[in-house]
Amino acid sequence: MKAAEFDYLRAASLAEACEALKIAGDDSERKIIAGGQTLVPLMAMRLARPTLLIDINDIDDLKGISVSSEAVTIRAGTRQRAAERSDVVRDNLPLLAHALPFIGHWQTRNRGTVGGSLACADPSAEIPLVAMTLDAQMVARSADRGERIIPAAAFFEAAMMTTLAEDECLAEVRFPIWSDAIGVGFHEVSSRKSDFAVASAAAQIALDSDGVCRRIALAVGGVAPTPTRLGQIEAALLGSRLDDKLVSETTAGIGAMIDPDDDLHGTAGYRKRVAGILAGRAICDARDNARVGAQGRGNAA
Ligand SMILES: Cc1cc2nc3c(=O)[nH]c(=O)nc-3n(C[C@H](O)[C@H](O)[C@H](O)COP(=O)(O)OP(=O)(O)OC[C@H]3O[C@@H](n4cnc5c(N)ncnc54)[C@H](O)[C@@H]3O)c2cc1C
Repeated sequence: MKAAEFDYLRAASLAEACEALKIAGDDSERKIIAGGQTLVPLMAMRLARPTLLIDINDIDDLKGISVSSEAVTIRAGTRQRAAERSDVVRDNLPLLAHALPFIGHWQTRNRGTVGGSLACADPSAEIPLVAMTLDAQMVARSADRGERIIPAAAFFEAAMMTTLAEDECLAEVRFPIWSDAIGVGFHEVSSRKSDFAVASAAAQIALDSDGVCRRIALAVGGVAPTPTRLGQIEAALLGSRLDDKLVSETTAGIGAMIDPDDDLHGTAGYRKRVAGILAGRAICDARDNARVGAQGRGNAA
């Protein structure tokens, strides 16, 4: 099938893209196209019928990765593959570096953008899960209201839905950097390598020099309409040494905290069970590599 007829604008600047997105007050539907990895198939199947396609691929201001002492900023049009290969991401956002290779195939990551993945808000997607785990901030821009910062917890509204307004373009995402030495863990199961995850889990942990957990962030994906932060599990493990028994007993409770759906790829019961197991593995990996960092600090002292 071919896409329905549409007009096309190749925007030269973020300002031009935002101006074009302004709601016309009629039946027209304006959509940004970034990597096109989701939108083009949807248009070909006529599940999406934008009347104006606003191409952001020429906008230099929407590309690139920068770092400050507090955050790594990834501009929305940055290709997923560029983030995967970035030294800044590897050195400062190891959780994202672990998660990126799980996205599709390298061919899709060559085109797919970081912002496109966030704006798509697929419940199984890796970048939204990492954004939720690390309390990332989305920076949206519109022609009329300028810049708006949306915390991850307020950004993912439902499956494939965000709180971006129709006239807003996602400009960048800011991932906070923890000041402590950290360990990270990321696990997922999928029907085939490169498929979307049936369930996934991400953890980032900081230990003190005695091996006690002084900071933990944990979230699961693919088991609810949006990535789900597990504050109760974090609270139960904070202040402990994260020994295997405690981690396994605590994460066994995750199934009761989530309410996934059945689908072709897995039943709700399977997803409940596997989410707990993956979360346990992610925590143990994060603990083990945080221990290496904590030992390094101890030796240096
Ligand atoms: C074969 C295949 C396998 C895949 N596997 C996975 C997987 O395992 N995990 C995973 O997470 N993803 C997967 N994807 C999705 C893919 O990697 C992209 O993340 C996704 O398609 C969206 O990014 P994009 O840049 O292509 O966005 P597009 O397809 O261009 O746009 C998607 C949507 O986001 C909107 N949008 C894009 N950019 C912006 C912006 N800056 N501001 C506002 N709205 C915006 C568009 O209007 C559109 O509605 C897969 C894709 C394919 C084709």
